[in-house]
Amino acid sequence: MKTSLKTVLLIVLANLLLSLAAWGDSRREVKFPDVLDYKTLKCDFHMHTVFSDGLVWPTVRVDEAWRDGLDAISITDHIEYHPHKADVPTNHNRPYELVATKAKEKNILLIKGAEITRDTPPGHFNAIFVTDIAALDVEDFNDAVRIACEQGGFVFWNHPGWKPEAAGWLDIHTKLYENKWLKGIEVVNGDTYYPEAHQWCLEKNLTMLGNSDIHDPITGYEIYEDPELTHRPVTLVFAKEKTAEALKEALLDGRTAVWHKNQLIGREKYLDAIFKASVKIAKPHHSQKDAIWVEIKNNLGIDIQMEKAGAKRAEKLTLPANSTTLLRTKVDSKAEQVKLSYVVKNFLIAPDKGLPVEVIVPIQ
Ligand code: ZN
Repeated sequence: MKTSLKTVLLIVLANLLLSLAAWGDSRREVKFPDVLDYKTLKCDFHMHTVFSDGLVWPTVRVDEAWRDGLDAISITDHIEYHPHKADVPTNHNRPYELVATKAKEKNILLIKGAEITRDTPPGHFNAIFVTDIAALDVEDFNDAVRIACEQGGFVFWNHPGWKPEAAGWLDIHTKLYENKWLKGIEVVNGDTYYPEAHQWCLEKNLTMLGNSDIHDPITGYEIYEDPELTHRPVTLVFAKEKTAEALKEALLDGRTAVWHKNQLIGREKYLDAIFKASVKIAKPHHSQKDAIWVEIKNNLGIDIQMEKAGAKRAEKLTLPANSTTLLRTKVDSKAEQVKLSYVVKNFLIAPDKGLPVEVIVPIQ
């Protein structure tokens, strides 16, 4: 049968559309500014696949990471727990191998990792930047952590407080810490923030992390029960460049913050830098008697919720994400600038402690 010209044209058109679709892969993402001469990388270092107790094939994690605007991920299947082993063979290094090429195609740094999953206490620990996960499959917990560190791994404590008996800092954690094996703690895991972990990181100079620990496919954020959670928790890493080496150097140096719900959690230095890079105050555009009107821009992808510092009654000022806010304030006619002190309530520099900031409006 002769193919009509119309059919041929339809096939050509269909192929053209398909190829356009392949090249038109795009994503919406919440942008964070680069700060202090570092690149701000969005990362998730804790997730599972069918190679342990997750419910997706490893490549799905890369597609999800791309959609969520991430720069780096680590697939961290449990070393000791394989409920799907009748269908999926135990092969610790396989998830990484299966996605290495796809991660490169999507410009996502893929960090080799695994979850050391022993009794609680001591709890669960992720080892990332390891070279051979199979070598960590040994009987003794301390040996597994030691081998991970000898491979150049970065080891952090997952979801402390996940089980009540694991909520405290015990001798075993002191031992890991004193051996310089323990480098960080998840301050956020999934939908849970751990204030005590936040405090430990500050006191012991450990790196703060916030990871999804996702097991299900990410089809939307209804995976979390909390309606405030519209994105997965993200570890922001302030790295010299977007490479695995620079990422590891930044983690070892504690240069992170955590994006959780509508909050940033981290050290004051980094949260302050994000605030200063995101909030732009114009000169007043109008004045009348003893008042001035000024525009404040928030270029950050999240709302900034401020409260007047030291005010007798709460005076709130919210700068919505990616928006301009008008502020009217009183001014002394001879002043060269107006200095307003606020506390950013959703930038946590310690448990229950917001970031102090000064909004300075130039007048002259
Ligand atoms: Zn996990």
